[in-house]
Amino acid sequence: MLDLIVRGGRVVAPWGVGEWDIAVKGEQIVAVAQPGILTQDVARVIDAAGKIVVPGGVEPHTHCSWMIPTAAEEKLYTGGPEEVSRACLFGGTTTLVDFAYWEPGEDLFQTLEGKEKIFKGNSYADYSYHCALYSTKGDLPFGVMEQIKEVIEAGYPSFKVWTTNTTPDRPRQMTDIGHLAEMMGHVAANNGIMAVHAEDEDIVMFMYKKLKHEGRVQRKYMHHVHNNMSEDISFRRVIRLAEWMGSALYLVHVSAREGVEAISEARGKGLPIYGETLHHYASFTHEDYEKPEGAIYHTYPSLKSEEDRKALWNGLLGGALSTLATDELFTSKANKMRGETIGDTTGGSEGVEARMGIAYTEGVVKLGMSLERFVAITSTNAARILGLYPRKGAIAPGSDADLALIDPGIKKRLELSDFHGSDYSPWEGWEVQGWPVMTILRGEVVVENGRLLGKLGDGKLLPRKIDSGVLARPMC
Ligand SMILES: [Zn+2]
Repeated sequence: MLDLIVRGGRVVAPWGVGEWDIAVKGEQIVAVAQPGILTQDVARVIDAAGKIVVPGGVEPHTHCSWMIPTAAEEKLYTGGPEEVSRACLFGGTTTLVDFAYWEPGEDLFQTLEGKEKIFKGNSYADYSYHCALYSTKGDLPFGVMEQIKEVIEAGYPSFKVWTTNTTPDRPRQMTDIGHLAEMMGHVAANNGIMAVHAEDEDIVMFMYKKLKHEGRVQRKYMHHVHNNMSEDISFRRVIRLAEWMGSALYLVHVSAREGVEAISEARGKGLPIYGETLHHYASFTHEDYEKPEGAIYHTYPSLKSEEDRKALWNGLLGGALSTLATDELFTSKANKMRGETIGDTTGGSEGVEARMGIAYTEGVVKLGMSLERFVAITSTNAARILGLYPRKGAIAPGSDADLALIDPGIKKRLELSDFHGSDYSPWEGWEVQGWPVMTILRGEVVVENGRLLGKLGDGKLLPRKIDSGVLARPMC
């Protein structure tokens, strides 16, 4: 006896797109079959006629329960997994990968245990963490870097660093190139991947100084600080370092044309370099900073020009960029609107609920992106790069029964009431065509027609292991 059949939808499977029925037993998909073949008894049938059925989204970049870096003095934290994972499910995303931040004095297992205390029992969606490391004052001990091997073996194969402090007032964030090379060596030797927020610290900090000198510190100048030259120089430096160390590399939140080009060139040489962009980098430009509520569009590094925005879509369509993420910082509107300047505007985006719907509208409807490519950038590629595939990111027998049903017939202007997260959304007023209407997590319907049916604590911590092919050459 089957538990569930999703019948008659247009299904995006690893082998193509077609009208198939999906059979689920327990938490897994057991068959994807031509209509009429599945005749077993079944507890529930979902009619997906007219809907597009895709793997539940995999969001590779969220920051739950994180002290907002521009609000360190007040110790303001972002929302927790309760809020972020619930918004994920409403938007068709069933897995998120967050960050466990190392603190001086800790070993990495203490770091991971600290994050698990926050997530355990408090997530609606499945989850894992990248380990985030720092060597701001050269104070990252060798013993911590040597733990990278054990941490990978324990199921956490991705490590995040920043090559900049991002703003002048942050107490601690960046990692220097020497420590980064050392980490890459451990990562490469043990089948992990390095995730890097790459900006050139010297350029960024000099531009803060220069714009202050010139009296141009309003937010609208953000892209002069976090600029294209910085992304270009830093991406190429970090890619070259990865090449020296034999490390796979995941460059987070690519924002500029030059970033796309650097990644594309590296992939052309056969290097295992992967790029992520954000749905709001692909939708807004620095001109949006000048709107009355321009702060709500900002995430560090910065929004760039229309030309850059188009280059990000070309990267997503053409294969230079692998994933579309959010850099989610769940905050109230009041906290998002804090700060007026290039140094104190709150970064991060309230975006996980809109991610798949925006990708569908902007990619599939407006730019003719194939459904296979849409699934690749919203689910499969993040699962592959971060070691969750094929358990996640695929509609295939043996995979978890994580599904999102998108209704391509929905045409609407998004209102705040369409969202289930914060008291604002950068997407309020955005016209969409196609929107997720049902989400299934490991065989359970967790969102149906705007109603949350999932329970807090349903989400499981997922062990991860990256396929050796993904670490050897550009595979997705
Ligand atoms: Zn981030």
